Amino acid sequence: MNSPADPLLHSGTVPDLMRAVTTAAAAGAARLAESTTSHSIATHDELAGLVRSVDLNHPAADFDQALDELDALWLRHAVWFHLPRTTAHLNCPVAVPAVAAEALAATVNTSVDTWDQSTTATLIERRLLAWTAEQIGFPAGADGMFTPGGTMSTLQALLLARDEALEAPSTSPASLGADASSGTESRPVRAARLRILASAESHFSVRTAARILGLDEDAVLTVPVDDGGRMRPRQLRALLEEVRAQNLIPMAVVATAGTTDRGAIDPLSTIAFACQEHGTWLHVDAAYGGGLLTSREHRHLLTGIELADSVTIDFHKTWFQPVSCSAVIVRDARTLRHCTHHAAYLNPADTPEPNQIDRSLQTTRRFDALKLWLTLRTVGAERIGEMLDEVIALAGEVAEAIERDSRFELVCDPALSTVLFRWLPADGSAPDAMVRAIRRRIWESGRATVAETVVGDRPCLKFTLLNPNATRSDLLAVLEYVHEAGLDLLSSSSAASSAASSAPASEITEVTV
Ligand SMILES: *Cc1c(COP(=O)(O)O)cnc(C)c1O
Repeated sequence: MNSPADPLLHSGTVPDLMRAVTTAAAAGAARLAESTTSHSIATHDELAGLVRSVDLNHPAADFDQALDELDALWLRHAVWFHLPRTTAHLNCPVAVPAVAAEALAATVNTSVDTWDQSTTATLIERRLLAWTAEQIGFPAGADGMFTPGGTMSTLQALLLARDEALEAPSTSPASLGADASSGTESRPVRAARLRILASAESHFSVRTAARILGLDEDAVLTVPVDDGGRMRPRQLRALLEEVRAQNLIPMAVVATAGTTDRGAIDPLSTIAFACQEHGTWLHVDAAYGGGLLTSREHRHLLTGIELADSVTIDFHKTWFQPVSCSAVIVRDARTLRHCTHHAAYLNPADTPEPNQIDRSLQTTRRFDALKLWLTLRTVGAERIGEMLDEVIALAGEVAEAIERDSRFELVCDPALSTVLFRWLPADGSAPDAMVRAIRRRIWESGRATVAETVVGDRPCLKFTLLNPNATRSDLLAVLEYVHEAGLDLLSSSSAASSAASSAPASEITEVTV
């Protein structure tokens, strides 16, 4: 293909678009189809060299050449999430119509900020937000916003919670005397008294949000968890009371529906009742567990989510959507006013049609709702739920296999689709030291990806299963890789130790790669 004289898309360049999109899609599809391992074994240094060698000041001769170049430095080495042995992260295989929707969204280049840049796109987005609110069980009057990810959804939710708490008349008994006239307390002074309560296993983005929102350094208080990694509601109540007693304001409780490591779902209803008693905003981070809304088998695990004030849902995790696609859903649409800013050039207050920018922290914003729409209209919500049920069942099977296998230790029963385990060296050496080295060895082999994490102070390996096409035998194969990697590491460290037999024992017992 020759470089088109006019690179911009219009009726005259439609043939160029068709060619470019078809060729690019074919290049990606070809690599996807022939990929058999989760990623290539190229190292960071090798890939950095390839990327550095490209001269950005001088374009390639034509699109095909640029694509070939990209193939060599990216597609050949990409990490593939459709392969059953890619198990490290909450990044999913994607629904076909959703990928097509990405191309479509870019073709039109809709920005869903003002009505006059989006029209139907605004309506599609609002329909999807209302539909999601319905699945949650929120009453009429709920609303929400699409965001680029769970981190942003939770940030927006906590911003609303903060501003609600700043506006609310002081209810703290200790403050009734001095602050009886309320209003005398300046915003920063009151903000410094705000506290967020979240479990020890809540996502780090809660702390990030607190920082961005200008809260006190110690604003996020940690509620202990039970053996399954779920927030302990009694301890939550005690902490809520303690916060009040210290003349602080419990601005929000963040419950998690599907913690990133264990998939644990906090006891939502009990937590919600505690929040109601204290007039505290309840945010449910269902970035991971949100897909359960579509599950017939496991929807009940989310019981109580309908009592929340706001919910984070990542469609790019358990809804099989390409990155990025997330939403924050709020019980009361009026709370979104805290995000509203009217700019004369963009969204004056008196326009009759809805401007989504009035409810968003972003201005120009991708039409990410389109891929969810096309997926729901093609695949259907029920099938999404079935696929999620399949990976949950798979996690159960794999956990059972691990439990029966004396070479491994199952760290905890899976709650959703993650499986936490450790390899147990037969020679009795500590499994802790092996975790990182095994993960790395497997990554370097290019055969699979496995995650490492720390749960309750114990390092462990982790499968995050999101691929309904993965089978038990795929995962058993990865377990064999783990075993082989472990044995390899032990034998290379014992070889190293006999080679350096004069070295002090403390230096050679540590496994390195
Ligand atoms: C993934 C995740 C997040 C962060 O979401 P992003 O989409 O990666 O920004 C937040 N909370 C939980 C529980 C998650 O699993």
